[in-house]
Amino acid sequence: MAIDTLTTIQETRARLDEARAAGKRIGFVPTMGFLHDGHASLMRAAREDNDIVMASIFVNPLQFAADEDLSDYPRDLERDTELADTNGVDILFVPTVDEMHPLGPVLTTVTVDEISTRWEGATRPTHFAGVATVVSKLFNICGPARAYFGEKDYQQLAVIRRMVADLSIPVDVVGCPIIREDDGLAMSSRNTYLTPEQREAAPVLRRALDAGIAAIDHGATDPVAVVKVMTSFINEEPLAELDYAAAVDAATLETPDVLLGEIRLLIAAQVGRPRLIDNAGATMGL
Ligand code: AMP
Repeated sequence: MAIDTLTTIQETRARLDEARAAGKRIGFVPTMGFLHDGHASLMRAAREDNDIVMASIFVNPLQFAADEDLSDYPRDLERDTELADTNGVDILFVPTVDEMHPLGPVLTTVTVDEISTRWEGATRPTHFAGVATVVSKLFNICGPARAYFGEKDYQQLAVIRRMVADLSIPVDVVGCPIIREDDGLAMSSRNTYLTPEQREAAPVLRRALDAGIAAIDHGATDPVAVVKVMTSFINEEPLAELDYAAAVDAATLETPDVLLGEIRLLIAAQVGRPRLIDNAGATMGL
């Protein structure tokens, strides 16, 4: 089946209502476009598990602060359509801001407390409410059985999981592994902002995470010690400026007194224009 690009909520709903009435299960992949193999991996996972795959491309103004890159976020709909088609997407939903918000500024916001306030949320205080609001709106438009999110945005995944649980939204949230460039840099649409020199420096985030994981493998159980290892890696790279490094509980994203059970190492650093984020998981035995 060739990909269909739909731009209105009404026609998208009509198509998906019809599919659900015929007993088909819908897999949904929300994106902001400028697609790469990270997005493609979510589409392929959705293709394997579902009858109909819908992806959306919407550069969501609600999740950008005034000083962020909303107006020049990279876009290439032609290339994106081809990538989505090749990776099994049936319906590509590409609404305008007016289509999504015909009444002007939204008055209704979904806020996931606590989990949204730390790490990314400390630097970007309105970000996760913007994400949660648009994702719940897209869920209402699409009615998916399953929705696919990358572990690349680990805190976002945790926020969405919590929102779905708290509001009993009938969707299975599927987390997918981080897809990386050959040198370890996590793929991101914003990597396009890096100059060649900064691009060469950017894999330092992955190296810092690897060093943190190695410290854990060698028996470190103190989060402060693990964060220190990660921090020293970033500090050695003059083109990277650390925002935060953290060793947290994988579900709550809180720093425990002692690392135990499912742990996530999180890191964020400014490398030239883009702020890069990355993370890695570890299981600490009892
Ligand atoms: P974005 O277009 O940046 O909003 O991302 C859309 C979805 O793709 C989110 O669920 C991201 O976590 C996911 N994603 C982005 N980059 C990657 C990556 N390198 N590996 C896996 N998933 C990714």
